[in-house]
Amino acid sequence: MVSQKMYELGTKKSTIRAIFEFGRKRAAEVGEENIYDFSLGNPNVPTPDFIRDTAIDILKTMEPDKIHGYTVAPGNPAVRASIARSINKRFGTDFEGKNIFLTSGAAAAITICFKALFEEGDEYIAFAPFFPEYRPFVESVGGKLVVVPPNPADWQIDFDAFASRITEHTKAVIVNSPNNPSGAVYSEATIQRIADTLRAKEKAYGHPIFLVSDEPYREIAYDGFTVPYIPNYYENTLVCYSYSKSFSLPGERIGYIAVPNKVADFGKVFGAIAGAARVLTHVNAPSLWQLVIGRCADRPSNIEKYVENGQLLYRGLIDAGFECVQPQGAFYLFPKALESDDEAFCEHAKKYDLLLVPGKDFGAPGYFRVAYCIKTETIKKSLPLFKKLAEDYKK
Ligand code: PLP
Repeated sequence: MVSQKMYELGTKKSTIRAIFEFGRKRAAEVGEENIYDFSLGNPNVPTPDFIRDTAIDILKTMEPDKIHGYTVAPGNPAVRASIARSINKRFGTDFEGKNIFLTSGAAAAITICFKALFEEGDEYIAFAPFFPEYRPFVESVGGKLVVVPPNPADWQIDFDAFASRITEHTKAVIVNSPNNPSGAVYSEATIQRIADTLRAKEKAYGHPIFLVSDEPYREIAYDGFTVPYIPNYYENTLVCYSYSKSFSLPGERIGYIAVPNKVADFGKVFGAIAGAARVLTHVNAPSLWQLVIGRCADRPSNIEKYVENGQLLYRGLIDAGFECVQPQGAFYLFPKALESDDEAFCEHAKKYDLLLVPGKDFGAPGYFRVAYCIKTETIKKSLPLFKKLAEDYKK
């Protein structure tokens, strides 16, 4: 009667959601201030005033039909041009409005790219640990997700494992840096090597292999870590960007796909993106937020809170005896669990009302994710509890 697959996707709670709901229930029992919910990646830095002021100005000064009407599917031409100029200024690219396709955030951008590229039998490669939604996104278009196992020493890439997973069926590789959940930023050397590997494989198989760069955390990179602009390293890159995290606008659904001129068969790729968006009922990205971004594309993100929280939590966890790679970007830490079964470990942590997410869901069992986009005060109060948790395992 209904699609079993869709039914399962719609009713089976994600682990993150289930933990979050457990937290809500516990908060009702013991009080909000006694729950340490590190489960969700919802930005906690307030949406900048310049975004709100711009939205208000647009609402007050523009004709309603110019604000709320349909736009052309790729988005308002002036807004696309403004975004292109901003990217060029930062990364020395040669984009114009025609290179930008506005979307409802990165999730839509990624799925549209996957669908646009898909031909029967295609495989998409992700590096563990990875954003769990990649699997339903890839499978929804008919593709197969191929996972490169994690490299926990520094969460960069195991290149032998990567090379061995590229086949004649590989259509695209998904790169997410700064990374959810590891907090790692792929170094320039890593990006260069991904590019070299893909170029060699393109040559061997005689067809393009695309790199889909999922970049919602691009602006959240800490001192000493720069996020290379991948189109400057690899021609066949499609950039999926989002303002959800950089401007704390996750509920407004606004982002874009950037398709560089150098992409193999630019016209065909851009056309297929438009077609995929059409069948995925995109129509257009939210029109008010297109206008806001058009005016604010050049404005900076405020990442101070994430720097403070990341350092505080990292030092606290190391002090408690956890093994963890230092935060480089995004707002996640991905420490090693204190028992091999990461699910059992996260279950045990609930004893202290520490809500942590098992690494298994991200393709990295034995680790756990801590999202530190929460109040600094909550992190401070949680540190003695992490200590107690670690002591349980020393006994
Ligand atoms: N990609 C990654 C790695 C994410 O962490 C998220 C959201 O948390 C997304 C994509 C989706 O972001 P958006 O809100 O722009 O759809």
